[in-house]
Amino acid sequence: MSSSSGYPAAHPELDREIDELLAGNRGWAAERLRQFPEAFNEMDRVHAPPYLLVGCCDARKPMDLVTGSQPGRLFLHRNVANQVRPDDPAIGASFEFALGVLGVRHLIICGHTGCGGIQASLLEDPGGDLGRWTAPVRALAAENATELDALLHFRTRADTLAEMNVIRQLENALAYPAVRARLVDAERPLRLHGWMFRLKTGLIDSIELPWSRWEEEGRLPEGR
Ligand SMILES: [Zn+2]
Repeated sequence: MSSSSGYPAAHPELDREIDELLAGNRGWAAERLRQFPEAFNEMDRVHAPPYLLVGCCDARKPMDLVTGSQPGRLFLHRNVANQVRPDDPAIGASFEFALGVLGVRHLIICGHTGCGGIQASLLEDPGGDLGRWTAPVRALAAENATELDALLHFRTRADTLAEMNVIRQLENALAYPAVRARLVDAERPLRLHGWMFRLKTGLIDSIELPWSRWEEEGRLPEGR
């Protein structure tokens, strides 16, 4: 029997991997206490993040780390290909809680280069839940087929689609009452941001948002 009671019964390599995580946590907690003796008392008392960030699940973009954010700053909502889908109550709940209750001041949708979910949307439908989940991205690719097909390399096509996807997800976000209410709330202003995290440099680019097109299309609430 292995030291853990999990399945499979004996697998030293897997045990070592998980022990590494838990040891990492103990090291992190000790170091944090050493630097900020009040850190955990404060964390236990206060939850007032300034940012709601919707990002992809990709393991290579730990948004707290890459933005140098301490715990408590980023309210993170992650799913494959950083989507805002009206049929997904999880994102609606995050909007209602982070925007309505916690009062975050920034809503950021963050895509990234080399995104597996986006790349899968350019290939054959994988079926299953992954296929269902990426269907809207697949549809977005079809809408923009002329522009995407003109790009020579698959990687460039995928990264361009990832950028289009950020804008589309912000458009989806604009339909939520929790988002619209904050856009017209003079007391509690909200800023929207579209970001691309670039794996090759570790840097984030801000995407210019099409405010005038959104205005023309009637996507923005009256009284903004
Ligand atoms: Zn991704």
